Formats: sequence, structure tokens, C-alpha cells
Amino acid sequence: VNQLDMKESNKQNIFSAIRLTPGISRAQIAKKYRYSKTTVSILVEELISQGYVTDGGLVQETTHSGRKPTRLFIDQTKHCLVIVNWTERMLVISRADLSGNISDIERVPLNNSEANGKFVIKNVQEYIQKMHMVTICTICFILPAIIDESLEEISSSILNKAEMQSFIKDAKTVFHGYRIAFYNDTACLAYAEQQLGKYDASDSCLYVNINSGIGAVYIIGGKMLGGASGRTTQLGHFSIDRNGYPCECGGHGCLEKCVGEKVLRRRAEECGASHIFEHVEPLRFCDVGEMAKRENPGALKLIELLAGDLGFVLANMITVIAVKYVILGGYARNLGDYFLECIRRSVEGVGYQPFVQDATFVYAQQNEDCILKGAALYYMDHCYFI
Ligand SMILES: [Zn+2]
Repeated sequence: VNQLDMKESNKQNIFSAIRLTPGISRAQIAKKYRYSKTTVSILVEELISQGYVTDGGLVQETTHSGRKPTRLFIDQTKHCLVIVNWTERMLVISRADLSGNISDIERVPLNNSEANGKFVIKNVQEYIQKMHMVTICTICFILPAIIDESLEEISSSILNKAEMQSFIKDAKTVFHGYRIAFYNDTACLAYAEQQLGKYDASDSCLYVNINSGIGAVYIIGGKMLGGASGRTTQLGHFSIDRNGYPCECGGHGCLEKCVGEKVLRRRAEECGASHIFEHVEPLRFCDVGEMAKRENPGALKLIELLAGDLGFVLANMITVIAVKYVILGGYARNLGDYFLECIRRSVEGVGYQPFVQDATFVYAQQNEDCILKGAALYYMDHCYFI
């Protein structure tokens, strides 16, 4: 590590300390990182002059003589991150200040012919052109995909494959001069839930995102396995039947073919509940949840079927890596409390019971937009950008 790198990383650490503890003083930072007071003073002055930090005035109670400590805060006005969330139905572009507050959310509905990388890039360009008096630290793209940045490859079962292929390359070309990050959607949701929810930083959990596809991320000891690339766990392709339905991935009986929103119609037929949803097209989790609320027997039966398959997989996942919480996010939450109840019931007798019985099954607490904040916080917690 050369001296310049060392200085930059010290500066980033000081910035992080101020971000995570607003109002912290120079002396407290020096103590926390065991830096000399001179080092802290010099680097804080640089952070202030570069517009990352503000000096918020005197600390209330001061007892020592000499220079009185002052409170340091993140400057929320001069720098920002642009956070882009590309989903199946919507393109969401927003900005995050350096405290992670999201604002200026712009939503562009996507139809099939528009859902391509060039359209996304064009909209982000236009968004950036409208921004004034603020420096963009980075552009974060959130994708419903597995991201292999070194190979410049994205694979997604949701977004159009041909269009996705050149996306990383195109984005890097068009936004040349900016830092760019590509994150997996489930990872960003999991990170937001873990940072903003009621969980302890050391709690281990399995976050499961159930929409058309199914994604999952393990957080062990506060760390996401595989980072935010989504490359480590492929829950959607966990096979529950090696002779089951063939999947695009090449496997058979993948969980996505049993529980994903796209296969609801077929599952309804399988349990003889199809007639209930005759006039609903496409059939979504919320439609089933609505009928279940009214105790419609067909809807309840369908939920039991889905929960049975999901519970089987979750119990096995917990057997491989024990977790304290299994957090369910995504549209499947619209299936309601009965779905959770059935999952809890269906894990009984599957997998290593001491592990399974220790796990708590809950729905994610944060709303859909928390994904933007999740990406912003993940970036600031893991990347040096100052
Ligand atoms: Zn598969």
C-alpha cells in the first residue's frame, strides 16, 4: 500500500464515520480509528473543502480547555449518486444524497418494445442532463439479473436476453468518465431490509425475493455472500423434482417453475382452482391473495400448494446454511398471512429440524422503493469513491 492509497482510504474511513454517526467530532474519529489528531484535522479539512462534509458547530457540553470540539455532518447538497432500477415493468431513476436519502424519483413504464438497454441509457442520460450544481459520484444500475462484471455479462430470466448482452459495455461507453456499478435487485432489497429493518447487524438471514422469478441472498454475520452480484445463490433453480418441468436453465423441476408468478395459472389448474380465476389475466399473486382473504377454498388450496413447494426448498436451504431469519420479499407478499402460515407448517418434518425450528419466517418490512436506498447504502459501505 503506497502512501497516497493510505491517505485516500483514511479519508474514506473518516467520511464513513461521519456518515454512520452524524454529529461525530474530530476527537471521536481519531479515537475510533486510532489516527493522530493532526491526520484527522487535515483530512476533515479536505473533505470540507471538497464538499463532502460540513462542520455543524460546537458540541454542546465541553469541559476541556483549548479548541472546542465541533460536530461534523455529511454535506447532502454537493454530491449525489444516480440510482437506476430496471425492472420488468418499470424503469425507475432517482438520486441519492451522501446520507442515502432518495429524491427526484422518475418512473418510466416499460412496454416490451421499449424494454431495451439503449432506451434505459437514453433515459438516464436525459435525467443526468437535468441535474445542476451537483457532482455525480457514481451511477448504480439495479437489474433483475446475475451480473458478471469481469466478463461484461448479464444473465436474466426476466429481461430480454439479446438486449441485455451489450448493456454493460454500452453503459460504460456512454457514461465514460463516471464510476458505474451494476447490482442484483434481490441483493439491494436484502441489504436495505438488513440495514433499515429491526434486525441485528450480526443476525444471519436468507432473503428471498419472489416475483416472476425467484432470487435469494444469504447474509451471514452482516455480510452478503457474493456481494451484490447475485451470483452466489440461484434459489429459483433449486430443483424440487429432477423429472419435473424443463426450465430455460437446462434443469428440471426448478422452483421458479413451481412458485413464480408466471406459473400461477398452471398451478391453479393443477389443484382444480383454475375456474375461480377464469376472468383474471394475467393471474397475479395479488389476485390469489384477495380471494384467499375472502376464504375462497380454491385460493386457499393454491396457496397451500405454493407454500408446500417453497417450504420444502427453504427447509433444505436452512439445512445447508443455518439462518436466524428467512425474509420473504417481492409480490408474493400479496398472498397474505395465510401463505406465511402454510410455509411455517410445511417446513415441519423437512430438513434438519433443530436448524429449521430455530428459523423465523417473516415478510420483508420495507416498501418497494427501499431497493434504491439499498443500492446507495451498499455502494457507500463497500466502494471507495471519494
Ligand atoms: Zn432452472
